Amino acid sequence: MNADRPVTRICGAGPTGALLAILLQRRGQRVELYESRADPREKPAESGRSINLALADRGIHALRLAGVFQDLEKTLLPMRGRLIHHAGGDATLQPYGQRRGELIYSISRHRLNQCLLDVAARQAGVTIHFEHRFEAAEFGAGVALIRDLRRDRLIRVPMQPMLAADGAGSLMRRGMCAAKLIEARETDLEHGYKELSIPAAAAGGYRMAADALHIWPRGEFMLIALPNEDGSFTATLFLAKHGATSFESLTERIAIERFFSRHFPDAAALMPNCVAEFQTHPVGFLGTVSAAPWAHLGTAAVIGDAAHAMVPFHGQGMNCCFEDCVEFDACMGRNSSWERVFGEFFALRKPNTDAVAEMALDNYLEMRERVADPKFQLQQALALELERRFPQRFIPRYSMVMFHHDIPYRAALERGAVQAQLLAELTAGAAASLADVDFERAEREIRARLAPIN
Ligand SMILES: Cc1cc2nc3c(=O)[nH]c(=O)nc-3n(C[C@H](O)[C@H](O)[C@H](O)COP(=O)(O)OP(=O)(O)OC[C@H]3O[C@@H](n4cnc5c(N)ncnc54)[C@H](O)[C@@H]3O)c2cc1C
Repeated sequence: MNADRPVTRICGAGPTGALLAILLQRRGQRVELYESRADPREKPAESGRSINLALADRGIHALRLAGVFQDLEKTLLPMRGRLIHHAGGDATLQPYGQRRGELIYSISRHRLNQCLLDVAARQAGVTIHFEHRFEAAEFGAGVALIRDLRRDRLIRVPMQPMLAADGAGSLMRRGMCAAKLIEARETDLEHGYKELSIPAAAAGGYRMAADALHIWPRGEFMLIALPNEDGSFTATLFLAKHGATSFESLTERIAIERFFSRHFPDAAALMPNCVAEFQTHPVGFLGTVSAAPWAHLGTAAVIGDAAHAMVPFHGQGMNCCFEDCVEFDACMGRNSSWERVFGEFFALRKPNTDAVAEMALDNYLEMRERVADPKFQLQQALALELERRFPQRFIPRYSMVMFHHDIPYRAALERGAVQAQLLAELTAGAAASLADVDFERAEREIRARLAPIN
């Protein structure tokens, strides 16, 4: 690799930073990647943020473009729908999609990180500095201050540019904000989450269907579970942080036991350690980050969660970050200066990341409440039927987001609003099954209100 190649610096080697490093070096850059943690390839997974993630079409598309997907494919666990565990104990499957390949996949966060870093580290011209924490920036001088944590030494590196993929709590974003170079808002959700586990069966294998994302919707709170490769599931309880039934109020063993046996008796039977885990696992914070713009001149920029973290209820945060990387790479191909790259990237991407953040919040209500509502279930069934009849014009919003990387998030949000109104109108009144729906009217309305999708 030619030492004269331009150097780009990235802080944060999570999913965004690692994928970006791979794409940047393909564009002829030398990449210096600074990551505050130790090399995750040398140790088992830390508990912390979700153990597994839902990977969908947008993420897969990006991983394919970067040549990483084939290394991960064999570890993916397909999930074909939501398996809803109702309060009465029965369970129903709501398929995610209906076309071939309309699945989402459970993937281990640790394995994904390891794989991305492996590929990044193999690229000539990519150097990864683990245990190096970005601490501050002198924007006027174009210098970043990075602490080498092994030697406890502060080093000064030129930015020109520094791309910050340092996650939702981004120090770069906060620094740019404090220097009044950008504006940013961090909005915490009133709910937090705790991870719990459903172990594999004693004889090995899964204790529930492994090809679904399990949801126990309970109105004000919910439990979900995604399968892991070893036969276990990782469950996540989403619950208010404060209030009558909350992480704050549930402290006594007896109250926690009562909470699980009252609201999740079937799940609790599969979670022998749920009370101990509830008492010892930390409460994770959830929130939305909104920033504008995302860069200062050609010196520094934020990308991924650092620019637009969202709540996890659409399973899109990382998928969206991967899409960022693809879009950023395309902007590099079209522009000759960093300032222009950053400008175009922000202009193209911001409407879409705002849209998916909004849909992610909306999906929380859908998952914890609406999925159990018969009217919602009818509308879901109708949405799939309309997609079968008018595939060029009507695609359920969930499918547009999860299975169509060619449909921008903003378009999914806008078309989704029209479709939701249409579904409400077509199922208004006494409609109780698809047989009650007036499909001639549906066709007229769809042709009038929804342009064909290109
Ligand atoms: C509970 C939960 C469930 C989720 N489920 C899904 C899902 O199913 N599907 C999905 O697509 N998304 C999901 N997400 C979102 C997803 O985790 C994020 O969108 C994604 O991890 C963002 O990647 P990132 O690289 O931008 O940031 P991060 O993953 O936060 O990575 C940032 C990296 O920067 C490093 N770093 C931080 N500060 C510094 C610093 N000062 N200097 C140097 N390095 C630093 C960190 O150590 C880390 O390695 C979920 C999130 C949560 C909280």
